[in-house]
Amino acid sequence: MFTIRLCIFVASIAFATALSANISPSTKPQLHQFAGPIIRNVEVNPIFFGSLASLPRRNCSSFMRPCGSIGRAYSLPAGTCSDPVTSLDDRKDIKPLLYKLVKDGVITPDFNFNSVYAFHVAPGINVTSDFGDKSCKSMSGYHSYVNITDLNVPNVPFLIYTVIPDPACMVEPPFSYSDLLQIAASHELAEAVTDPLLSLAIEIMLVKGAKGVAQATQVAAWVDVDTLKLKVNGEIADFCEGQADLAPVPKTVGGDGKEYSITKFWSQKKNACVVA
Ligand SMILES: [Zn+2]
Repeated sequence: MFTIRLCIFVASIAFATALSANISPSTKPQLHQFAGPIIRNVEVNPIFFGSLASLPRRNCSSFMRPCGSIGRAYSLPAGTCSDPVTSLDDRKDIKPLLYKLVKDGVITPDFNFNSVYAFHVAPGINVTSDFGDKSCKSMSGYHSYVNITDLNVPNVPFLIYTVIPDPACMVEPPFSYSDLLQIAASHELAEAVTDPLLSLAIEIMLVKGAKGVAQATQVAAWVDVDTLKLKVNGEIADFCEGQADLAPVPKTVGGDGKEYSITKFWSQKKNACVVA
């Protein structure tokens, strides 16, 4: 069976390894580019789910700005969940919601397959990922896809998204709230653009086993996978967990001149964990 834990960001691993930041990965990745699509000119579209009042504006004002003026708090379709929502299940809630937003014309994926929807979840809402991992327990973020083939968006059979649960439960020195938010968001974004359909590849393998390898490698892109053992070893950011640039190491300075806690990810060319 595929091991799926490694394709998600697990904060506890980051905690364990943060103190030895900037060391080489203990296991050298065997990343391979399979035949699946990648996203070349990404456009990140944040969606903030939950009560606007509960959004941590103060904490994310320097991140995906401006939190407040995004101004659009989406709610679940009526009848799907009790109100107020305290939990979201990827397959029951998040995928159907994203599908509906496309169907209703609220969001329009770029026709060149460049859109990634960054789904940020408000405090107080627990998230269960597409493969059953739970926020605050075994997962701090993940990326996945929604099949929107029947909505006939030109060139876009799949909507690609990341999910970033509220990281408040993980805050522990030296990690601030915004550090964790930025690390999780950058980790998932790096992997969503380099391996957007890994979840689909895993689903194929889970259903077909060894017979599904050929089909799975048509949808997976940059990933370290043992095709004989049917095991995913990790995507490009997984091998560099715990290597975000955190104080006292200088943070990464973005194009806007501000400092960010960005995860490093594996560069085949440089044979090292880097920040792009
Ligand atoms: Zn990952």
